[in-house]
Amino acid sequence: MRYEGTVYRPPSEAGSLIIQLTIGCARNTCTFCAMYKDKNFRVRKLSEVVEDLEMARNYYSRIKVRRIFLADGDALIVKTEDLLYILGKCKEIFPEVERISVYGAPKDILHKTPEELAKLKQAGLDMVYMGLESGDDDVLTEVRKGVTSAEMIEAGQKVRAAGMVLSMTIISGLGGRKRTREHALNSARVISAIKPEYVGFLTLMVEPGTPMYEQLRNGELELLNPQEVLDETQLFIEQVDAEGTLFRSNHASNYAPLGGILNKERAKILAQIAEAKKHSSFRPDSFRGI
Ligand code: SF4
Repeated sequence: MRYEGTVYRPPSEAGSLIIQLTIGCARNTCTFCAMYKDKNFRVRKLSEVVEDLEMARNYYSRIKVRRIFLADGDALIVKTEDLLYILGKCKEIFPEVERISVYGAPKDILHKTPEELAKLKQAGLDMVYMGLESGDDDVLTEVRKGVTSAEMIEAGQKVRAAGMVLSMTIISGLGGRKRTREHALNSARVISAIKPEYVGFLTLMVEPGTPMYEQLRNGELELLNPQEVLDETQLFIEQVDAEGTLFRSNHASNYAPLGGILNKERAKILAQIAEAKKHSSFRPDSFRGI
């Protein structure tokens, strides 16, 4: 396989074969994100992608490849007919594959019809990772996500209606001190409206080189301390109504590991938060990572 630049994948795709269908992120505007700033976006030639799949097959000739993740930032921007072709090739070259997944940007999902999404699901696209980041429109505007909470809800519901598994992420502290309450409440509102299979919390880490880093240096943004991050998460958990959604806050950027199934384990998750706050048992900043 050939990889161009740094390749990112969700933590749960650690054991997957990663194949780059696109290079970079088509939008690349989010003020907090440093992931693809060094890449000019393009969709790769399909023949190159197929070559990579064949190279991977040769390399893993004795190993069963159960999962494939099609990188980079937003593979759903690719034309549906091309995606169907690549999904077909994935299945042909790796008949043992059980799950194929992608990052899906909300606007790309909205550009696809329900019929197109259903065809993609039928062709083997099982899972979409969608970064909500925040359900608060002011925060989404401030971080230049380029999408509203209403569009997030529509996109998330479309993925679910197509029968794909949906995993969403929220970034704790993204609204800073100014909008922590709205960030929690509106994120709970959006997750309640979508009820994805998974919702994962990351905690904001501001990387040098991003526009947000400058805002922090200029004093335009105030980061939450660990107690405040957990207060924000607590408010989200108290308000969200998403029966069956698996909540996880166990990423390396988080101050305390939390997890449980909504809504039935709400009390358990709130007890985990209370326990972490009581003992101030927070992961030190020097051990946090993205
Ligand atoms: S957060 Fe996602 S959409 Fe925003 S710049 Fe990064 S990869 Fe692109």
